[in-house]
This record gives sequence, structure tokens and C-alpha cells, in this order.
Amino acid sequence: MKNPPFTTTKPRAACRLRTLAAGHICVVQQCEDCGCVSIHMGPTTVRLDEGALASLTETLTAAVRATREAADDIASLRSVQQPS
Ligand SMILES: [Zn+2]
Repeated sequence: MKNPPFTTTKPRAACRLRTLAAGHICVVQQCEDCGCVSIHMGPTTVRLDEGALASLTETLTAAVRATREAADDIASLRSVQQPS
């Protein structure tokens, strides 16, 4: 049975997780048997498949780009409103 693309349930006890990446905010692991990906953030673990992981990455990348563009817009407005 294929896993749903997104769930917050705990990994199955039988899953053998190996770490793919670890940072300050989260650790990403993948099961060596079923391939499910687990993202651990503090007390929360999100399980998803590889396709959903790729989609999540694209969404987060777009969000980071948008926040940077918004910061640039705010900086531009402040420089216009407060000439030095
Ligand atoms: Zn597994």
C-alpha cells in the first residue's frame, strides 16, 4: 500500500531510518525499506514520499524568495520615504 503524500503520524516501528540531511531546524531521514521520508522538527515529525518532499522543497524555496523580495521592496520604500 502506497503511503499518503503527507501525514504527521509516527514512522512505523519497522522503518529503518537513515539520515539524509540535518540542520539547525530539522533532520530529514528516509526508511531503507519503504522509502518514506521523515522530517523531524522538534516534537513534530512529518512523513511524506519523495515526490511530496520535492514539492515541499519547491514551495519553501519560493517562500524564501518571496520574503527576500518583500524585504527588498520594504528597504526600497524606506529609502524613498527617508532620504539621507
Ligand atoms: Zn519504512
